[in-house]
This record gives sequence, C-alpha cells and structure tokens, in this order.
Amino acid sequence: MNLSFLPPDMNWTCEPCGEKLQPGIVELQYVGSVFKVELPVCPKCGKALISEDLAIGRMLEVELLLEDK
Ligand SMILES: [Zn+2]
Repeated sequence: MNLSFLPPDMNWTCEPCGEKLQPGIVELQYVGSVFKVELPVCPKCGKALISEDLAIGRMLEVELLLEDK
C-alpha cells in the first residue's frame, strides 16, 4: 500500500535545521505489515514532519473506508 501525506504547498521547514522539507518515502510498520508512506522529510536530519502515529491513524481511516464498501 502506498499512501501520500504531502501537504498541497510543501512549503514547510524543519524547525531545528531551517531546511526546506522534501518529499520522501518513509516505511512504517503496522500490525506486522510494512507500509510505504510519502511524507515531508527534512533532507538534513531525515526527520518526517508528520508523526508515525498520525500517519498510522490516517491509514486506519483509509482501511475502514475500503472495508465499508
Ligand atoms: Zn531537520
């Protein structure tokens, strides 16, 4: 499953580094599966701006929507 959580403007900055965030693929582990999620990532420290918890929460929402057909 590939999900993207990029903001529409991508004009975000990593506070400690002062670097502009760039789209990057982050692997999240959830219930034994690995999901690849596209998040804004700092090129300097590699930190994703959106927390894994938030991304997993969004993934659960998507899963529920898929099951709800
Ligand atoms: Zn940074």
